[in-house]
Amino acid sequence: MVSLNLVTLHARIVRCRQCPRLVRWRERVAREKKREFREWDYWGKPVPPFGDPRARLLIVGLAPAAHGGNRTGRMFTGDSSGNWLYAALHQFGFANQAESTGRGDGLRLRDCYITAAARCAPPDNKPTRHELDRCRPYLEGEIALLTRVRVVVTLGRIAHDAFLKAKELGRLPFGHGLEATLADGTVLISSYHPSRQNTNTGKLTRAMWEGIFKRARVLVTKGDGRTE
Ligand code: SF4
Repeated sequence: MVSLNLVTLHARIVRCRQCPRLVRWRERVAREKKREFREWDYWGKPVPPFGDPRARLLIVGLAPAAHGGNRTGRMFTGDSSGNWLYAALHQFGFANQAESTGRGDGLRLRDCYITAAARCAPPDNKPTRHELDRCRPYLEGEIALLTRVRVVVTLGRIAHDAFLKAKELGRLPFGHGLEATLADGTVLISSYHPSRQNTNTGKLTRAMWEGIFKRARVLVTKGDGRTE
C-alpha cells in the first residue's frame, strides 16, 4: 500500500508543470543538450525520487543537475555529485554498487531513499523561493509515506530548510555534521552539498563526506537493536 501511494505520487511529480521558468529551462536543456551527451535522449521532466520505500535513511538534495538528473531521469545520476553520493552509499552498505550512470545500470538502494527540495533542474542550480514552495507538497507527501525513516541527511542549506519546512519545524542550525534529534525521534544530520564548488575547493573533503554516512550507518544500525 505504501509503495502504491509512492508510485502514485511519483507519477504526479513526473507530470508536473507548475513552475513555468523551470519547465522552460529543463526542456530547453533537453533539446539543446551538451556536446558530450548529444546521443542521449534527455529526460527533460521532473525527476522522481529514487530508492527503497521501506528506507530508514532519507537523503534530501537540492534539485537535479541540468545534464545529470535532467538527462538521465534519476536523482544524482550522471554527474559528479552523484559520483560522490553513490560511492559513499555503497561504502556504507546503502547501495549495491558505487556507480550511477543511468536508469537500467543495475543500481539498487537498500534502506535508503533519495529525494530533493525541487524536482526540476533550475538555471544555475538555484530554484527560487516560490519554486521551492510549489514543490514542497511533494516532499511533505513523501515524508508522510516513508514511515520507517529514522535518519535524515540534508545536503546543503536549501535542502535543510526545505526539510524543516516540510516537517513544519522551526529553524535548526545548519552546518556540516550537525545533528538534531526531532520530537518523533528522527535524527537530522546536515551536510555540505557534494557540488563541484564544494569538492573542488576542499570545503568538502572526502573524509568529511564519508563521516556523514558513517554516522548515518551507526544511527540506522542502532535502531535495529544491533551493535556494529
Ligand atoms: S519544481 Fe516541483 S513544483 Fe515546480 S514544476 Fe518541477 S516538480 Fe513541479
